[in-house]
Amino acid sequence: MDANILVLGADNVGKSALIVRFLTRRFIGEYGDLEFLYTHSVIMDGREQTLNVWDAPYTQQDQSSETMLCEKRLQWADGLLLVYSICDRASFNVVSKLVQAIKTTKQLLGFEKIPMVIVGNKRDLHHQRIVLSEEGRMLALSADCQFYEVSAADNYHSVLGVFHGLLDRIRESRVSV
Ligand code: GDP
Ligand code: MG
Repeated sequence: MDANILVLGADNVGKSALIVRFLTRRFIGEYGDLEFLYTHSVIMDGREQTLNVWDAPYTQQDQSSETMLCEKRLQWADGLLLVYSICDRASFNVVSKLVQAIKTTKQLLGFEKIPMVIVGNKRDLHHQRIVLSEEGRMLALSADCQFYEVSAADNYHSVLGVFHGLLDRIRESRVSV
């Protein structure tokens, strides 16, 4: 199963860190702000599959427009990963807005439901926590998607769980078509 994963969220929440951690197992620390499309081969279910991961920056246009997401991005994506930082309230609000915008865009364009997960990152910084786990869970419930709290810095397995959870969802959605 080849799959396209679109990663969205405010700046500085650890989108690039999560992707790089998943693809290389490593946490480097600094990633720059470039938009990037990662292509990666993985073995799943005994077969080689191609995974494309789009590390999408949070653009001026995203911030100003009402629906925020251009349809091209959503059309491309088989799965969406929405990321905030548990230490950053504004980044949580961005994910809430994205959830709304995705709903609206899909309705307007008549898209199928796209598998999605919500991720609260930087769990290792619990002493700086501002967004409660419960808030993330409630948002995910309202968006009908899975919720994870992870640390790209501290915990490779938590990051692996996110991507595998999303890939499972994508696989299920294809079976049910
Ligand atoms: P992006 O703008 O969303 O792509 O965020 P980056 O991946 O560039 O990460 C922003 C900053 O947060 C960098 O300094 C990372 O090292 C740091 N960072 C990312 N994930 C974590 C995490 O899980 N824990 C901690 N403590 N720092 C993180
Ligand atoms: Mg980045």
